Amino acid sequence: MSDPLVAGFMYTYKDSLAVGIGSPIRGLLDRKIRPEKLLDDFLETTGIAEKVKGYSLREYSAKVIPEGGFPESRVGKGNVYLCGDAIGLVDPLSFDGITPAIASGTLAGEAAVKNYNREVYKYNLMKHPEISKIAKERKLEAEFMAGNKAGEYIQMVSSMLESWAAGDLFGIRNTMVGNYRNIIPDLMSFVMRMR
Ligand SMILES: Cc1cc2nc3c(=O)[nH]c(=O)nc-3n(C[C@H](O)[C@H](O)[C@H](O)COP(=O)(O)OP(=O)(O)OC[C@H]3O[C@@H](n4cnc5c(N)ncnc54)[C@H](O)[C@@H]3O)c2cc1C
Repeated sequence: MSDPLVAGFMYTYKDSLAVGIGSPIRGLLDRKIRPEKLLDDFLETTGIAEKVKGYSLREYSAKVIPEGGFPESRVGKGNVYLCGDAIGLVDPLSFDGITPAIASGTLAGEAAVKNYNREVYKYNLMKHPEISKIAKERKLEAEFMAGNKAGEYIQMVSSMLESWAAGDLFGIRNTMVGNYRNIIPDLMSFVMRMR
């Protein structure tokens, strides 16, 4: 979708579909939009609503995925070691939450068995390549989200994908040239600093 507030996804199973949207809560609150309305709009505009007419609904749910926790948040208390979503370990750029949840869960298990104090556990989290990448990305993400750069970036990528799907190579080039001054230098500096 072109609205920077929303990312949509769809998984296909043998006899069912899982469709959903993700959106930052701040944007929804500021614009007084209910999440179920965004989902309905997504289903309508993508034509999915029409396709699934007459089929039964198996599951309908919502979940908050906390971001922006680790390394600022506490990683536990006493012999309790927090991991995964509980310390906001979702990759802010790729939204990969499973990899860091498994990585931090493994380290939390080790910390519990070896009775590490929280500082040692935190140090081990920071040393893990996946987790330290997320901590690094978080600082850059705040910068990237400022001034709606992220919205422009999402629009650029979806426009390029639309051109690609239509076999329109000039469309891809035109999108890149059109956005070159606004976004590409920022993206390059972003990628360089991630190294
Ligand atoms: C719709 C959606 C799509 C996603 N897609 C992806 C994806 O494609 N790739 C990806 O990497 N990540 C994805 N994520 C994020 C990913 O699911 C999470 O980051 C990851 O599951 C976090 O793992 P976790 O173990 O920390 O928490 P969870 O997987 O949420 O596990 C917590 C568990 O604790 C249980 N629980 C909660 N409270 C209690 C209680 N009081 N007592 C007992 N049990 C309790 C819950 O029922 C749950 O089973 C997605 C998230 C959502 C919501």
